[in-house]
Amino acid sequence: MLTGQISAPGQILLSNIDIPEPGPKDILIKVRRAGICGTDIHILHGSYPAQYPLIPGHEFSGTIEMVGTSVTRFQPGDRVTADPNIACNRCENCQKNQINQCLDWQGIGITRAGGFADYVIAPEGNVYPIGSISFEEGAFIEPLACVIWGIQTIRPTIGDRTLIFGAGPMGCLIMQSLKAAGATEVTIVDRLPSRLKKAASLGADHTLLTEEAPSVLKNLAPHGFDIVTDATGSPSVVESCFQYVRARGKVWLFGVCTPDAKASFSPYEVFRKDLSIFGSYAVNRTFNESIELLRSGTVKVRPLLSHTLPLEDFAAAMRVAEHDPKRMKVQLYWD
Ligand SMILES: [Zn+2]
Ligand SMILES: [Zn+2]
Repeated sequence: MLTGQISAPGQILLSNIDIPEPGPKDILIKVRRAGICGTDIHILHGSYPAQYPLIPGHEFSGTIEMVGTSVTRFQPGDRVTADPNIACNRCENCQKNQINQCLDWQGIGITRAGGFADYVIAPEGNVYPIGSISFEEGAFIEPLACVIWGIQTIRPTIGDRTLIFGAGPMGCLIMQSLKAAGATEVTIVDRLPSRLKKAASLGADHTLLTEEAPSVLKNLAPHGFDIVTDATGSPSVVESCFQYVRARGKVWLFGVCTPDAKASFSPYEVFRKDLSIFGSYAVNRTFNESIELLRSGTVKVRPLLSHTLPLEDFAAAMRVAEHDPKRMKVQLYWD
């Protein structure tokens, strides 16, 4: 089978390898769509703890090709996606029901072979049926599940006025999810007018270019926003979140900064304004909610897809996902 690999930081290649055999509790999935995530770009540059050589790809959908001998819930031909987070189910964190913090965590497309390949293996417990959801939408279930884990963590309430930095695919998923969770107003800031247009078409109430944000935001919410979200992973943007959060407000760090990045904030201000700072890492059994948001049409993902390329163009697809100013979500596709 054909695979797209990152053999070492900075090195992309296509390689033909044997189709893997599913173990007794595993499922072999024929990949139909696989999304490229910011994490894959970090992995390419060696700024994310991955295991090389790696077949990346942790956002994918497809059909079941073969099931292991003790698999009971699925059969060949089923349309599925998979949660890439494989928890050990026996460490202290798993026992405390914190499986996304598993101490012996494995990630499909991070520490073991992922979906940038003709076939990928996932344990049965990680596989979810997608029903009539299209494959292109099905490859958004994982990123949306990450957003939902964050939403469950920060608990927005009805009437919240919210601000998001970053109108990329994740910022637009966060925007729609905040609204579904009760926020009445979402303002979104980005450097690119095309991304702001997309966000507006999906329901953002106010869209602002980065350079106009400081003055306009102070007029929009003189005392600040209830929830301020960073969806850029830029330390300077993280620092600026604190300027715009109201008393008793929440700062949600969703964007992935590099492991060595530092950002400063005023502890006095956090104390004086009763602020809360939240992180949310990956997915925590939030695939069912994600599937439901897509199935019901509550969250729309088709408009977020900007480029589709075949696996043969893996290197070009990674370049588009990192550099193309018109990019939103980039997916690999199989006919
Ligand atoms: Zn991702
Ligand atoms: Zn564990």
